[in-house]
Amino acid sequence: MSPVSPVSVTVGAVEHSVDFVRPRLRARGARRVALYAGVQINGEPHLGTGVLQTAAFLLARSARDRLGVGAELRFGALDNAPYETRVCPRTGTLYTRSYHHALGPARIEELVKRFYGGLFDALTALTGVPYTVETYTRQQQSPAFREEFLASLDRWDRLRWALAPSTGHVPVSLPCPRCGWLQKSGEHTELLGTGDRWARFAAVCIDHGRYETDVRPDGRAWLGLTTLHRNLVKERLADRDEAMPVIVKGADWATGCRLLDEAFLCFPGGHPPARVLTPVILSASGAKLSKSLMREGTADLSPDTPPWMLDATRWTGTTEGYAETLHRLVSLMLSDPRHFERGYTTSEVVRILAEPGPIAPG
Ligand SMILES: [Zn+2]
Repeated sequence: MSPVSPVSVTVGAVEHSVDFVRPRLRARGARRVALYAGVQINGEPHLGTGVLQTAAFLLARSARDRLGVGAELRFGALDNAPYETRVCPRTGTLYTRSYHHALGPARIEELVKRFYGGLFDALTALTGVPYTVETYTRQQQSPAFREEFLASLDRWDRLRWALAPSTGHVPVSLPCPRCGWLQKSGEHTELLGTGDRWARFAAVCIDHGRYETDVRPDGRAWLGLTTLHRNLVKERLADRDEAMPVIVKGADWATGCRLLDEAFLCFPGGHPPARVLTPVILSASGAKLSKSLMREGTADLSPDTPPWMLDATRWTGTTEGYAETLHRLVSLMLSDPRHFERGYTTSEVVRILAEPGPIAPG
């Protein structure tokens, strides 16, 4: 049994969703692909996260088997997510401190392992696709990341309107070197100057006042970027690799990816990477499952939604069983692009998983 899905706009053009990658693969003549996906560490993962990550494994396996290329998975752990917040009593300015600055690398590694280690290992066992996890903190330390950031400043006047079409305002956040707090919206962050391979910023700390930070390829400053700016820099960095990058994101990213694609065009000869968008898991209202809505109690979940769909740590079986369940569900979604180019409510997932029958090949 399959879900009942309407005909998609790609019917007749796309037989398997991994074929979205093929035009770029042919143009580039690449022998290897690296699929990039995100890992949230700010709370227990829900079903939407699991579906995205499982889809990344299955797409990598399909790239290997159907397109005949080497395929690996690279997860980025977002340790730049805000961990704690303070409001300056004098100015009302919002300050945040990231998971990295509040917890440090050892506890971040623990979190990644706790939420994802078992699942990823089980999915590797099921698909034969290897994976690595790199934190944002580690990634932004690399000279190549900083070079791409500095390159973005070189064409800032055009780029910032692609990254923030309403205001052209794209804050860059540099945490206080003494305590790690930073202004969430970078109100008082100022670009003092740029030169050949450097940029100097001034910013204000809630406790330590004004400070200046230099960003250089080999420097130590920690770079906080807005979501779209960060993704642009990461994707341009990924494009330097010999393995052709394929960006895997939930379909809720479709509109954001439009802006990213626009941003790529600001670079001479720039072209956006191959992307595959994965099905979003929805609550009864049609809003995607979201940690913040669940926390607020406004997620509007249907009563038949089992707790583990909202919080994977509440799965009562083995991790392998959880991985097999996700594998079965996402294999079904990938069995026809019609089933992949749509969203699923938690109720529909409950219905699909209750059905017996053979598993469609991923
Ligand atoms: Zn400080």
